[in-house]
Amino acid sequence: MKYPLTELEYATDALEPTIDAQTVALHHDKHQAAYVEKLNAALASEPLFKFDGSLDELLAGLNSVPVSIRTAVRNNGGGVWNHEFYWRGLSPEKSHPSDELLTAIKNSFGSFENFQKTFNAAALGQFGSGWAWLGVLPDGSLKICTTPNQDSPVMGREVSPCGMVPILCVDVWEHAYYLKYQNRRAEYLEKLWNIINWRRVSERFECAAREGKVCK
Ligand code: MN
Repeated sequence: MKYPLTELEYATDALEPTIDAQTVALHHDKHQAAYVEKLNAALASEPLFKFDGSLDELLAGLNSVPVSIRTAVRNNGGGVWNHEFYWRGLSPEKSHPSDELLTAIKNSFGSFENFQKTFNAAALGQFGSGWAWLGVLPDGSLKICTTPNQDSPVMGREVSPCGMVPILCVDVWEHAYYLKYQNRRAEYLEKLWNIINWRRVSERFECAAREGKVCK
């Protein structure tokens, strides 16, 4: 397969009790796998479109994808990319934001608590399915942004108005939380702070702030 289903870095029950094992298994092995399958099928259906780049490059250049498969690549390629970024931003091991990231959070949102409150409000306010993101703007400040469906800040401005390099994302599709939290998206968002992989988010922040690029 051109773009594979990447493995999780932890066991499916590792995020318990915040995210139950059944949700992780279904989410990764069924939902994410379906995006992988449909992305590859769409690309295979257009053999004249010869693209050898990374998934990041494919999504950044959506406008050069043939119209016949552009929506499928946007939805399913976004689905693959976003989920990989989501899982890698979570961890059963407790960690903390680096001093550098914490300073940027305080400068942009006043305090860490206010950042969490603002992020959760944005994620809760995303109507229907989508994602909430934290990212770095060209001036080094941080921004919270939401995207519908499987859209992603890495798709660039013609698709996503976020205009930032993402460093953290939260899936607010119901499949991400419904088995355990049912309709209580706010509770899922509250609990999710317990399993954020701040070590990785801090590394991503360094990549974004120093080089202006996305690091997974
Ligand atoms: Mn999902």
